[in-house]
Amino acid sequence: MKKMNDIKQMLSQQISTERFKYKLIIYSITMVHIILFVLFNFLHIWPMVVFNVGSVAVYIKCIDIIKRGYEHEIIKVFYMTYWEIIIHSFVATICIGWRFGFPQYIIGLIPFGYYMCATLLEEKRRYMIATALGMIAALSFIACRSLSLFVGSIFLLELPAFAELLIYIFNSICNFVFLFMVTVIFVWDMQRITLQLRSQNVALDNMASIDPLTGLYNRRSMQDFFAQALKAENDFSLIMCDIDNFKRVNDTYGHDFGDVVLKEVSHIVQQQVSDNGYVCRWGGEEILILSNDRLDHTCKIAENIRHDVEQHVFCCCGKELHCTLTLGVAGHRAGNTVEDTIKHADSRLYYGKQNGKNRVVTPYNSQ
Ligand code: GH3
Ligand code: MG
Ligand code: MG
Repeated sequence: MKKMNDIKQMLSQQISTERFKYKLIIYSITMVHIILFVLFNFLHIWPMVVFNVGSVAVYIKCIDIIKRGYEHEIIKVFYMTYWEIIIHSFVATICIGWRFGFPQYIIGLIPFGYYMCATLLEEKRRYMIATALGMIAALSFIACRSLSLFVGSIFLLELPAFAELLIYIFNSICNFVFLFMVTVIFVWDMQRITLQLRSQNVALDNMASIDPLTGLYNRRSMQDFFAQALKAENDFSLIMCDIDNFKRVNDTYGHDFGDVVLKEVSHIVQQQVSDNGYVCRWGGEEILILSNDRLDHTCKIAENIRHDVEQHVFCCCGKELHCTLTLGVAGHRAGNTVEDTIKHADSRLYYGKQNGKNRVVTPYNSQ
């Protein structure tokens, strides 16, 4: 249930961030159109005044679509923006000519188109549509230039050179800000996706290598640590542990209590081994420790584990219980295989079970 809620929360955060970036783009474009509306009003270019009113209405509709938040509708926002910018550039060129820099906005449509198509369209169509739209944009840019050269403009604006330059710079700045914004959003998206993938990989790695009940490494992942230890050519030792009379614990107190014992024993073992080695759940209630310490020190660790388990009071559902552990220790000898060393540890464990349990059998105290 908690996991479900976490996923829901993550999804809602994701959707709201998605909405935020679209809103940021559309609010910025709307602002530019409001400024242009004022400018054309001031210059008495009435067709452009009317066009900008229409443009603002289009963008208000876009904001409404984003707010409603249906992902399949967001692509409409892109198409509306795309065609508005292309038509705007043509109308501006026809009305006042090329030199004020309105067609510049067309250039930004190419990266914007690829970003939106890659984000919102299915894989099969996204590159084809983005490329087609990009080519239409490029041709429109060239067409605007040709139109202004061969047809001319309706309004012959006689502005001072400085005012003309100011309008050109305004359009350039808006276009560059738009390009920066699309690029930053793209890079930010890439980073977010990379982080997500990384943490998913870590979670998958953990799922593949960690035993869910005890939190110890599982048998499979132990093979990697054996390989590492053999490669390093350092001395290492193994401790095989087995809970005494565990079947009786299950039979008397129930399987749940058995699980609690298994978890707490694992915790005690893990604490004693700390960073000096690796602890894995070898099978049912058997724990195998790979210790990077010298053999004599490993034997002390084994004795500490035995002692800590013996002293520990296991509690579950108002019941208390004492448990013990038998451990077999073996040092790895050069020339032997890991399987040989495991066999030695195992046979010492068996010897301990045959001789009263709750004991540590080492090369020093066994025949
Ligand atoms: P010994 O002292 O000789 O080791 O006796 P034992 O009873 O511990 O050994 P045995 O191998 O007969 O029993 C092991 C039991 O461990 C049997 C199995 O049901 C139990 N077991 C294995 N895995 C789990 C587990 O994940 N949870 C619980 N609760 N019990 C488990
Ligand atoms: Mg046992
Ligand atoms: Mg056993």
